[in-house]
Amino acid sequence: MSRVYNFNPGPSTLPLEVLEQIRDELLDFNHSGMSILESSHRGKEYSAVHTEAEQNLRKLLNVPDDYAILFLTGGASAQFAMVPMNLLRKGRFAEYVHTGAWAKKAIAEARIVGEVRISADTSAEKPARIPRIDELNLHDDAEYVHITSNETIDGIQWKVFPRTKAPLVADMSSDILSRPFDLKQFGLIYAGAQKNLGVAGVTVVIIRKDLAERVPDSVPKIFRYRSHIEENSLFNTPPCFAVYILMLMTRWIMKTGLDVIYKQNREKAAILYKVIDADGFYRGTAHPESRSDMNVTFRLADESLTELFIKEASEAGFKGLKGHRTVGGIRASIYNAFPVQGVKALADFMCEFRRKHG
Ligand SMILES: *Cc1c(COP(=O)(O)O)cnc(C)c1O
Repeated sequence: MSRVYNFNPGPSTLPLEVLEQIRDELLDFNHSGMSILESSHRGKEYSAVHTEAEQNLRKLLNVPDDYAILFLTGGASAQFAMVPMNLLRKGRFAEYVHTGAWAKKAIAEARIVGEVRISADTSAEKPARIPRIDELNLHDDAEYVHITSNETIDGIQWKVFPRTKAPLVADMSSDILSRPFDLKQFGLIYAGAQKNLGVAGVTVVIIRKDLAERVPDSVPKIFRYRSHIEENSLFNTPPCFAVYILMLMTRWIMKTGLDVIYKQNREKAAILYKVIDADGFYRGTAHPESRSDMNVTFRLADESLTELFIKEASEAGFKGLKGHRTVGGIRASIYNAFPVQGVKALADFMCEFRRKHG
């Protein structure tokens, strides 16, 4: 078997040892005589998985007791709707920072629910960037302030989070657990698991419990955070298999330590940005101060070479490098599980490609 270097933006590469463990346990989970895929979500095997996944997240992110950790379905996209349905009351407003493609989707959903104000908009700027804290037009009486901690398509990432009076809400789908941060600064964070936490199917929501009390009675129970908090994410059948993989991923991160993972992530990204900045052959699409450690986006100065670059890279075993269909160019997604050797190999390939075609 030969595994390629998988730069897919999500679903994305998983650690080989996690995949091997899933394989080894697939038919007979923990001597239960059945697969975790076949186990009851209220049985003792799955209960242990569910509890450990929650506890590992609590430890890794220092989640205080007044916050609930939820395992929901519907992806981050469902959270674009659930956040305003639960937190944005009639006659009030929410503030959104518009930084790019994912913020735009969050804003569009919130506008269906209630009044949205844009506290800064850098979405049309090139190079792409996150606004400076002093550019944000924030109001203490907003229901909440929403940011996208990492814009997966545009390749930009918040380096310092704003301190807000109103609860800060973040879509962390593409950089959760890639670095330490102070959770207490936030009222709510959410993340689909298929980038940094495992596979598609489960979305992690961490919410300060008092915020879940705002929800209007008009919201069906299944869409209330409160229902899921009260039932410990067992209000209905949770995505058991995805939670199991999330549990394995959190174990894997704990084994290395989040500080070390963060250091590795920064080193990996720096290797690629160094090649991009070497001369004019490649051009980064993000402002240097906003550059993402997770999604490294760039173009070839000679755009006619883009297709050839992707083709030759693919032949050399580098998959998933094509930029998002809406922006083109190249994107190397290098989440936690992406190995440093793969990043070095791509950097070598880029230098060689430049030598041949520059
Ligand atoms: C991938 C992604 C989403 C969408 O996630 P789904 O699970 O497809 O709903 C939302 N926000 C960000 C930042 C993403 O990277």
